[in-house]
Amino acid sequence: MRNGMLLLVLCFQLSAFGRATKRAPESTPSPAAEASPSPSASPAQGPIPQGVLATIGKDTGSNVDRNFAQGALDELNRVVASGCVRTEFTKGSVTSLHNIDGKQVQTKIEAYERFVAGAPYALDLRWYSKFGKTVGYTYTYKDAAEKGPSETRIYSNTRMMGTKQDHAAHLAHELSHQARAGGFVHWTVHQGSTPYEIGNAVDRCLAVKR
Ligand SMILES: [Zn+2]
Repeated sequence: MRNGMLLLVLCFQLSAFGRATKRAPESTPSPAAEASPSPSASPAQGPIPQGVLATIGKDTGSNVDRNFAQGALDELNRVVASGCVRTEFTKGSVTSLHNIDGKQVQTKIEAYERFVAGAPYALDLRWYSKFGKTVGYTYTYKDAAEKGPSETRIYSNTRMMGTKQDHAAHLAHELSHQARAGGFVHWTVHQGSTPYEIGNAVDRCLAVKR
């Protein structure tokens, strides 16, 4: 399986997404990542289609607590639809905009719009239980063919699930890894990468409501 390991996108973040104190080194910012958004970057300005980022998919596992998961998605959809996530993500420091094919977007606005462009996304949720610090994971594609269909499953460790707000940030982070939502990666940079900063933006938006 060529480059099979590259498809595995593990996420080691703790549940305290937005409160993490570790930041990416400031020595390697991408100038383009800080550039002003281009007004012609994308026609997908403004609210996302239908005002919903994500729903519970039809292949969701039978052991998933749907009330909890829907509660998390309600929180996530609310702060995405309000524009808060867009604002928080684009005003934050994003030092890596890379996705699985390299760097396909040049600005934070473009990254965010790529993230929401395919909404609403049906998330096929899978819960498992494992000791350790891994909150969950997903893949970019469903199979080893790197241009194959996007993954739709998100695996979440029930031992690290935290609150529904924490779960909302986790789901947004994992979704951003999937090819359909941009296929963003954090091979070398964690904090400062698009997936982490999407999760952090969701966390900040929800924190002010707690
Ligand atoms: Zn990740």
